[in-house]
Amino acid sequence: MSKKDHFAPKPGTPIDLNDYDPDFHEDYDKSSGREAVDRLQEQIQDWQERLYAEGKQSLLIVFQAMDTGGKDGVIKKVFSGINPAGVYVKSFKAPTPEDLAHDFLWRVHPHVPGKGYIGIFNRSHYEDVLVVRVNNLVPKEVWQARYDHINAFERLLADSGTRILKFYLHISKDEQKERLQARLDNPDKHWKFSIGDLPVHERWNDYMDAYADAITRCNTEYAPWYIVPANHKWYRDLFVTRVICDTLEAMNPQYPPPEAGLDEVVIPD
Ligand code: AMP
Ligand code: MG
Repeated sequence: MSKKDHFAPKPGTPIDLNDYDPDFHEDYDKSSGREAVDRLQEQIQDWQERLYAEGKQSLLIVFQAMDTGGKDGVIKKVFSGINPAGVYVKSFKAPTPEDLAHDFLWRVHPHVPGKGYIGIFNRSHYEDVLVVRVNNLVPKEVWQARYDHINAFERLLADSGTRILKFYLHISKDEQKERLQARLDNPDKHWKFSIGDLPVHERWNDYMDAYADAITRCNTEYAPWYIVPANHKWYRDLFVTRVICDTLEAMNPQYPPPEAGLDEVVIPD
């Protein structure tokens, strides 16, 4: 197993996030990493056009991370240059009273990508076994049952022609502290700072346990988790871009054949 494969654990592997180095960056440095991302982005643009034109398969990409982990940053980077008609982002915030009056997947299902589309989730149904678990927002029996519900839901999507990729952007507690401080120090970033995020920083270990269980229990062949070393933003972008590119290549979407007789068409004056 190459060191890089370590970050794409096999289904069934119990995860301890202490075994995953958030600083890992293979043999790349910032400049070679950025160049690689630029090349991969062009390939993603091409694959995305084919996916849209083909209209038979869809790709769902889930991003989860601690605050400042880089969900917004990676989405902006990886999908810049893509035709916006075929890609959309759904961010999941704290549930509304109407959401809470339903099962936890009710608000999620309408946002999964249809055929031909790439759908990106900035947070997701996993919040219901992360923030909800750590803060005891529902009884233990309720969140415990959700891992199976999530697996069944993702299986349904996969059986219906959706490829699923799930990325946990893994930063260290020290890195989060620095990034939170940088947000405080920059008035343009104050909108991203919520005093409510501080207790989350303090409960780091509880969150790491919750992430480890979510990844361990919901890492399947049909909806794999990737643990992305994310202390270096450029490597995080490279890791994610490469997995997406490889996945689109494996999906191998094709332009549909032209209408019969197209080769005889003459455009009238
Ligand atoms: P942000 O992504 O920074 O805009 O913050 C969104 C907030 O919504 C975060 O604090 C999440 O933990 C919270 N959130 C998202 N989904 C849920 C959920 N199902 N239950 C409780 N809080 C949630
Ligand atoms: Mg936030």
